[in-house]
Amino acid sequence: MPTEPYDLVIRGGTIGTSEGRFEADLAIKGEKIAAIGQGLAAGTKEIDARGKFVLPGGVDAHAHIEQLSSGGVMNADTFESATASAAFGGTTTVMPFAAQNRGLDLRKVMDDYAALARRGAMIDYAFHMIIANPDAKTLETDLPALIAEGHASIKVFMTYDLIKIDDEPLLDLLLTARHGQALVCVHAENHGMISWMSKQLLAKGYVAPKYHAISHPRGSEAEAFTRLIAAATLVDQPIMIFHVSTEEGAAVIREARGRGIKVFAETCPQYLFLTRHDLDKPGMEGAKWMCSPPPREKADQDALWRALALGDLQTVSSDHAPYRFDETGKLSAGPNANFKQIANGLPGLETRLPLLFDALVTRGRPEFPERGLEAFVELTATAPARIYNLAGKGAIRPGYDADIAIWDPDRRVTITQAAMHSLTGFTPFEGMTVTGWPERVMVRGRDVVADGKLTASPGSGRWLARKGGPAALPTGRLTADMDPATNFGASIL
Ligand code: MN
Ligand code: MN
Repeated sequence: MPTEPYDLVIRGGTIGTSEGRFEADLAIKGEKIAAIGQGLAAGTKEIDARGKFVLPGGVDAHAHIEQLSSGGVMNADTFESATASAAFGGTTTVMPFAAQNRGLDLRKVMDDYAALARRGAMIDYAFHMIIANPDAKTLETDLPALIAEGHASIKVFMTYDLIKIDDEPLLDLLLTARHGQALVCVHAENHGMISWMSKQLLAKGYVAPKYHAISHPRGSEAEAFTRLIAAATLVDQPIMIFHVSTEEGAAVIREARGRGIKVFAETCPQYLFLTRHDLDKPGMEGAKWMCSPPPREKADQDALWRALALGDLQTVSSDHAPYRFDETGKLSAGPNANFKQIANGLPGLETRLPLLFDALVTRGRPEFPERGLEAFVELTATAPARIYNLAGKGAIRPGYDADIAIWDPDRRVTITQAAMHSLTGFTPFEGMTVTGWPERVMVRGRDVVADGKLTASPGSGRWLARKGGPAALPTGRLTADMDPATNFGASIL
């Protein structure tokens, strides 16, 4: 029986997975990877990938897109510009936020963000729901319904005046998530320490952007991690700690994981490649490197690489938070704003993968001997797809979506704003030279970027409905306070 030819065969490339690498052909039929092997039959179209790496497109699980900050500052990127920028850097799935600021109705917020994404996105996406208004309607009606509809993760902030969640509502949210089997992602820093330190600095005239770096004291991270983990343990609810920046923070996570607590964690390129000294620039220039938590020290970078290698941290996300260096973004409070009035955040969707490819694959990190490519695929695609339960994403495997980035491992690129596709107007990685860049990127078998050009149309990205999956399942091990066998029979969970 003659069979239909494959739609596309990518021939002779080095296929990279989180487990290993091998030379093979890869065939695509429709939207899926149909076969991987030697000497596959001809495709209607063929790509010669000899000398290239054929890798799963990146999954960026933390990016702010077309989002209004709690302070009322709008992101520079639309879904269209952000997802184009992501694709140029090899990313094919992104997880932005639907941000319920205080006083807002969650259902309406979700509808609004979903409409923006439907219109603009060129790569596939799933949302985290930011909850800053945990009122009865949100907790009892909207959140359970939206989780059940396929939005299986929540994001909460333990700091920022306008959106922070205190310990008691945090427990409410953890319990609501447990009932819906959704993962809870957290921006965890001690609010009081940051607020107090900021006031001390400003009162003494230390207003320049660089003081932002010390206004988030190192210990504010470890303290909030410890408190968050205690709350999650009480409720037996899995958590994901976002953007770990310090060695002490990573150590808190390691200790908790050692006790069998279900805590996942990410870091970001800004904590692996930048330090607080990058904020120390003349005038307002340092604002371009302002993000929260701030970049720390070289010793923290090394500690975070070790934590990634040990599995204490499982993913590297961009935390893309694009604010322009002008009155529409960073300088919305004027050209002489103090550090507390400057929007926090950096663009990073496009540079995340090239920076990590260069570090792990091209140069090699000592923490990942002989397995830099595998670690790159695991940390940037396979692990986030697994943890956030994105079915068919994040790996090269028959039956999976044909989300593929073909990398030229020899292409040397100096990162410059002129070459970026985000609307932010600057990149904090300006001037860094990397070797290795994705030259062709496809989502479900369709080219999004080819020959240096964008070939997808706005709205071609697809929303990924998902349940919480294994990562979001409670352990079932209850603390003595919560276990009816030991708490006088009180049934709380
Ligand atoms: Mn954050
Ligand atoms: Mn963020």
